[in-house]
Amino acid sequence: MDLYSVAKEKGIKYFLISFVDMFGSLRAKLVPATAISAMQKEGAGFAGFATWMDMTPANSDTLAIPDPESLIQLPWKPELGWLAADLWMDGKPVESCPRVILKRQIEKFKNNGIVAKSGVECEFFLLDNSGEKLYDTQDTQEKPCYDQQALMRRYDVISEICDCMLKLGWNPYQNDHEDANGQFEMNWDFTDVLTTADRHTFFKYMTKSIAEKHGLRATFMPKPFTHLTGNGCHAHISLWDIKSNKNMFADANDSRGLQLSELAYQFLGGILHNAQGLCALFNPTVNSYKRINTVSTSSGASWSPSTVTYSGNNRTHLVRVPAPGRFELRLMDGAANPYLMQAGILAGGQYGIDEKINPGDPLHINMYTEPYEAKEHEKLPKNLLDAIRILEKNNVLRENLGSEFIDSFSKMKYEEWNKYCQSMSDWERLNVIDC
Ligand SMILES: [Mg+2]
Repeated sequence: MDLYSVAKEKGIKYFLISFVDMFGSLRAKLVPATAISAMQKEGAGFAGFATWMDMTPANSDTLAIPDPESLIQLPWKPELGWLAADLWMDGKPVESCPRVILKRQIEKFKNNGIVAKSGVECEFFLLDNSGEKLYDTQDTQEKPCYDQQALMRRYDVISEICDCMLKLGWNPYQNDHEDANGQFEMNWDFTDVLTTADRHTFFKYMTKSIAEKHGLRATFMPKPFTHLTGNGCHAHISLWDIKSNKNMFADANDSRGLQLSELAYQFLGGILHNAQGLCALFNPTVNSYKRINTVSTSSGASWSPSTVTYSGNNRTHLVRVPAPGRFELRLMDGAANPYLMQAGILAGGQYGIDEKINPGDPLHINMYTEPYEAKEHEKLPKNLLDAIRILEKNNVLRENLGSEFIDSFSKMKYEEWNKYCQSMSDWERLNVIDC
């Protein structure tokens, strides 16, 4: 696909050549269509050190080579075309580039005739411009989930985002007010994991942009308010046979009663086996650990897990099986890197298939009221530091995602943790001042 011709045909004046760094930040250069031909071949140049990519100022240019297949013409500004890019340096793909890492996982499945599909549920808050307060001061109910009045007060923003998804052909199918005051969720169709990761990235950009247009600030921060439900980013997973286009996770004769296949259980076994290590990828910020491990919120539930368990159609576990042929991972939060999140799922799942891991039987209990029933199950890390220490030592993820990436990611996250520890909280002053 020649991007210059596409620009002429579609009336695109500028391209955003973008990539997501290891910490999930979206970086871009704005390139006039007249210059796109060279950029399509050579890539747009970035100083990697200036982003979260574990490089030094002495490194050569990091080149972001756009994937023409990822092109999205901005529905709210059609003169702009957005492109996801893969990072290259010194003639080689960058080992720690999240999109490169995900593509490698996809390749392994493809070699076995399998395509992995996923859908994501990105929760977000609409705040005022300061980012400190809810925009809607009337949104005060103790149980605000599905509140029609509060949803419709934001109709202009939500419908504009949904209209964009309709125009882009993502097949959006529902929008609602979520469980926290000021919180929303918008759902669109699942598809192959790379497309979902690109759309997830674009959805965050689109939601923030359209919210800004309306004088609001959208945030995907895992836990913006201590007493309210946090922003999850649940992912639904299934594997499909490329030739027959059949869902390989579906089996109506499942003896465990969830209508999942043996392959699905093995995949699930691999995820559960590596869940503590995956936590650093699924919950990558200091703030993430204030969402998981929460006791409760003003609405009555945190909707997030703290233990490595799975169940049927039961939202109190790390994994839920809401319908035949797929499962929902409920651990991820709004800070999860769209590419590393999917790459982590595939790496864990691949290990489960290779080693034929048995996840055991589903636990049909309420984990919020009966956690003692799951005493023998592993607990999730309590903070980012513990999560990074576990990830660093996880040889399955190291082997599958690459040692260079695990080392770079851990190094930079340790630095983040140290910076966090140097900042003092109000809690410390209030509780230690009279020591
Ligand atoms: Mg939700």
